[in-house]
Order: sequence, then C-alpha cells, then structure tokens
Amino acid sequence: MAHPVLIAAELQPLIEPGQLAGLDVTWLPAGEPTPQGDYAGIVPLLSRWVGGTELKRLPKLKIIANCAVGHDNVDVVAAEMRGVAVTNTPDVLTDATADLAWALILACARRVVEGTLLVKSGAWTGWHPELLLGIELRGRTLGLLGAGRIGQAVGRRAVPFGMRILYTARNPRPEFERDIGAVKVERTRLFRESDVLSLHVPSVPETKGVIDAETLRQMKPGAILVNTARGDLVREEALAMALETGRLGAAGLDVYTEEPAIHPRLLAAPRTVLLPHLGSATRETRRQMAAIAVANVQAVLKGDPPLTPVFG
Ligand code: NAP
Repeated sequence: MAHPVLIAAELQPLIEPGQLAGLDVTWLPAGEPTPQGDYAGIVPLLSRWVGGTELKRLPKLKIIANCAVGHDNVDVVAAEMRGVAVTNTPDVLTDATADLAWALILACARRVVEGTLLVKSGAWTGWHPELLLGIELRGRTLGLLGAGRIGQAVGRRAVPFGMRILYTARNPRPEFERDIGAVKVERTRLFRESDVLSLHVPSVPETKGVIDAETLRQMKPGAILVNTARGDLVREEALAMALETGRLGAAGLDVYTEEPAIHPRLLAAPRTVLLPHLGSATRETRRQMAAIAVANVQAVLKGDPPLTPVFG
C-alpha cells in the first residue's frame, strides 16, 4: 500500500515521478495551512513552520524531510519527543550558497548595483576618475562567523582574492587552517578586524540577534556585512542605522527576519544589495535538494535510517 505523504507543491517540477514510487502524494501549496491527516511524511519548504500543533494534527508522522540545510522552521525537540525523524539537505547547496555570498561581497565592494542603476537611469555622464569608487579586496580581512560547510567554502574562495581569513566557531577547523591559513579568533576580534564579515551560523537561540547595535559599533568603520545564513541573526533596524550614519560601508543580504517582509528602514537604507533568499537557487542544486528530501522520506518509510538526519 502506498504511504500517504505531504510534499510542498512548489517542488513538484523538480521531482522525477520515479522518485515518488510507493508514495501517495498530496501536494501542499505554500499558502495553505498544514492539514490534519494520517500522513507518514512531510517535505516542507523552509517557510513552513512544523511544530507542536502540526505534529498533533499528523499523528502518524514518521519523518519531516526539510528541503533546506537550515531547520529553524522545525521544532526538532517536539519532533524528537514524538519519535519523528527530522532531515535536511546538507552539502549539495554548499557551493551555490558560497558562490552567492561572493556575489554579494563583490557587489558591495565594487558597487555593482549602484552602477547598474546609474546606467539604467540615463544619468551616467561618462568615465570619471572618482565615479563609484569601491574597495580593493587584496590584503583585506574576511571574517567568517561560523566555519561549517558554507563558511569554509566562502573562505576557500577568498584565497585567490588575496584576503586574510579569520573565523569563529566553537570547534577549531585544523584542516581549514592548514589549507588556507585561516585563523580562529574570538568574536570581538572578528568584529574589530574584519573588512568583510560574512555570517554562516545557523539560527538558534545563541545566535539570534548576534549582529546588533553593539556588535555593529565594534565593527571596523566602512566594513561590509554579508548575510546568506538566516535573517534573524541581524537586528535589521540597528543595521539600517549603521548604514544611514555611514558607520558601515555596505550590507549584502540574502535573508531577512520576517521574509518576505523587510524592515522599511533597511529597505530605504543606502549601500545595500538585497536579494530574495537565492542562496541555493541554481537549477542543479534545487533538484538535488528535492531529491535528497524525497530519498529521506523513502528511506524512513521503508524502515531504514534517514540519509541526512539533522542530529546524527
Ligand atoms: P554547518 O556546516 O552546520 O555550519 C554551521 C556553523 O555554525 C559551524 O561553524 C558551527 O561550528 C557553527 N554553529 C553551529 N551551531 C552553533 C551555535 N549554536 N552557536 C554558534 N555557532 C554554531 O551549516 P552550513 O551547511 O554551513 O549552513 C549554515 C547556515 O546557512 C544554515 O544553518 C542555513 O541557515 C544557512 N543557509 C542559507 C542558505 C540561503 O539560501 N541563503 C542556503 C544554505 C544554508 P561549531 O559547531 O564549531 O560552532
């Protein structure tokens, strides 16, 4: 008998029918609430909260296969208490997200968006020695708040740009240090010395709001802040103020606290590059993410261990 499962409707074009063998799929559009029923698995988008209430409505649930590496949209404690497996999609999105972090670093350092807007506005009057001057990355310091898969991939990409690399993490990364000369430091030193600060920690109670008015004050004047991790790591109003006063050089953001809403003051702030949560958005990566999520459902419903459990 086919297992009834809920899968985010937006993933349907990315999934081959063969991957769904043995599953009786109800496609769940993003705007609809999680229904009640005897579903054995759910593959939610990262925008769907799956917590105690949802778990109560899904008494037969065996697996929540999140289609993302972050899992802050899932109450993992409630799931564990119910014996429901929680899986994510690590590794396959590392390169795509690290590439996007670099797109933001370069766009901020070299004022790519301002340049495009100037050309499109028709106000460009020609080459000028002081037009939209940016900063040179060679010899500058890249600070990585978090050096897991994506943080390290961002750091490795900094080598050919001639940057010095500092990072914070609870556990040292000896291979990373050996390979590219990255140095593990305390957070305050990371904030003080980084010309570019890139965020790569998960959203958990200890990291929420880590970039607030106080940490922004500690940052180097003119520094660039890049966030491709999660929006709630940053206090958006404090960031907007640091941009308004000119304390911060620029901010390149892919994620926001209340997506898709963005704090109006941040939206109006100068020197920002704002993307609509595109970190993993390549065709190849999104297909692989969907494939891993469905493969996790298949494994657990067959009685096998999940392929990529959130907690091993
Ligand atoms: P990862 O490999 O698990 O790395 C997470 C890093 O954060 C590690 O350095 C880890 O090192 C540190 N960390 C973990 N828990 C922490 C805590 N409680 N306090 C402080 N540091 C902690 O994850 P990843 O694959 O690199 O992904 C990182 C994050 O990027 C995800 O959680 C997700 O939110 C975000 N992401 C966003 C997009 C996007 O579309 N923009 C795409 C993919 C991922 P220690 O344990 O040694 O501290």
